[in-house]
Amino acid sequence: MASTITEDCIGCGNCEPECPNGAVSQAGDVYVIDPELCDDCLATGGCAGVEICPTEAIVAATPAAVAV
Ligand code: SF4
Ligand code: SF4
Repeated sequence: MASTITEDCIGCGNCEPECPNGAVSQAGDVYVIDPELCDDCLATGGCAGVEICPTEAIVAATPAAVAV
C-alpha cells in the first residue's frame, strides 16, 4: 500500500528529501507519491510527520500508521 498526497498540498517540497525510497516527486505546483515506490513507511517516521508537511496533506494508506 502507498501513502497519497491530497489537494491540500501547497508544494513546499519538504517531503521530497524525506522519502527513503525516492517516491516523492514534483508534479506542477504540487508533489505526488509514486505508489510503485512508496512502502507507506509512516509508522517508522516517514514523510507525513507534522513538522514535515505544514498542511498535513500526506495521508497514510494504513490508518494506524499515523498514530503518534
Ligand atoms: S510514506 Fe515513506 S515511502 Fe511513502 S512517500 Fe512517504 S517517506 Fe516515501
Ligand atoms: S510536505 Fe506537504 S505541502 Fe509540502 S510538498 Fe509535501 S505534501 Fe505538499
